[in-house]
Amino acid sequence: MGLQGAETAAWFGRAKAALVSGVSSGFRYLGDDDTQVISRGEGGHVFDMDGKRYIDFQLGYGPVILGHGHPAVVAAVSEAAAAGTTFAMTTSTEVKAAEAVKKAVPWVDRLRFTNTGTEATMHAIRLARGVTGRDLIVKFEGAYHGAHDYVLFSTASSPADALGSRRSAVPHQVSSGIPEAIRQNVRVVPFNDLEAAERLFRSDGRHIAAFVVEPILGNVFGIMPEPGFLEGIRRICDEYGAVLIFDEVKTGFRIALGGAAEVFGVVPDVSTFAKSMGNGFPVAAIAGREEVVGAWEAGGITQAGTYSGNGIATAAASATIGELMGGKVHARIREVGTALMEGIAKACSDKRVPATIVGHPAMFSIYLGVDEPRDFRAASGHDADLYLAVVHAMVRRGVMPCDDALEPWFVCGAHTNDDVAETIEAFEAALSEAIS
Ligand code: PMP
Repeated sequence: MGLQGAETAAWFGRAKAALVSGVSSGFRYLGDDDTQVISRGEGGHVFDMDGKRYIDFQLGYGPVILGHGHPAVVAAVSEAAAAGTTFAMTTSTEVKAAEAVKKAVPWVDRLRFTNTGTEATMHAIRLARGVTGRDLIVKFEGAYHGAHDYVLFSTASSPADALGSRRSAVPHQVSSGIPEAIRQNVRVVPFNDLEAAERLFRSDGRHIAAFVVEPILGNVFGIMPEPGFLEGIRRICDEYGAVLIFDEVKTGFRIALGGAAEVFGVVPDVSTFAKSMGNGFPVAAIAGREEVVGAWEAGGITQAGTYSGNGIATAAASATIGELMGGKVHARIREVGTALMEGIAKACSDKRVPATIVGHPAMFSIYLGVDEPRDFRAASGHDADLYLAVVHAMVRRGVMPCDDALEPWFVCGAHTNDDVAETIEAFEAALSEAIS
């Protein structure tokens, strides 16, 4: 039995006839009978084409931190749209948004806006290569940094048996269509393994332009960095003159106003922000220390984009950051996320299902396995089939996390205490159903 009602199924039929596989992003296709078609969102809820309401823990893969259709963002965006949105010139809206980012993330000297996380990491990597005159980049196994060629190696889509040994991890290319020369410029190491990173830098350090780091593995259960790990990565980058890039596309503006740099007290050279900075509008930033981002000013390193800094995106960013500045949203998210994590952990232990609730209250996951995961290699120890069965049983009950166990549950400022109670009840019932 699929997850679509009659109207939703009819719309998905139309979707498939016009959009390839019925989607605009490959990750969204969940099968012909299970891919949802959404009519609208409101606060912490979404509605499908049959009018069925779901408590939304996907939030568009994370961005919608204030809730869908938040009035302050809607007002700011409507005003910006009416004033004309794309110009071949700097706008006051854009300047105000840049100032808001600097205020929220005080270590940032200057930045440039772009539209998506993919563009942000692409530009950050080119900038690091341009500044250092080196070609290699290092990333963690399981980390996702967008859909451009530079980074589609050993992501969360890679099979466990393609990663090679932990001591000499192999970059696994996850897509056709990427030139071999690009793969030769990528190195990978397991998350939370400082020794592996040190070993790699000892052999290749003087050729490494950048270490691209998801400070929390936001595409692998939201695995947290162990104490001292990010500090160690910072030290290695300093020692070898590599640019430390924090990819804060998922963590930025979500786990705290100042993102992972604030939470973990480790300051990178460059950060990429997107998702929660704009509450669902396509806005991103490459932000950093003057020594690195200032290199754009000298010329010779290309960064460009017709829509970069456009009025709608930057008005959305200013309004979203303005709401987050008050501090109430993050406090609320922590409260809701913690209650969910505790309720879900209790349900698993009551039913004697081995599980660890991994991550941060703003972005956590349910790892259905025995040991607590420290890196992507541990993903092979979780029960993906059981998780999928639980998620489908929850979706039928009107609760919608992502069906991929590795993708965290995202919490927003509009989730209510009733949503929490309903979700825990649905989870308990779904787990019972799935293990019976
Ligand atoms: N970096 C990270 C950490 C991400 O999670 C994502 C998307 N999930 C991206 C980059 C790419 O962002 P976008 O989809 O906006 O291109």
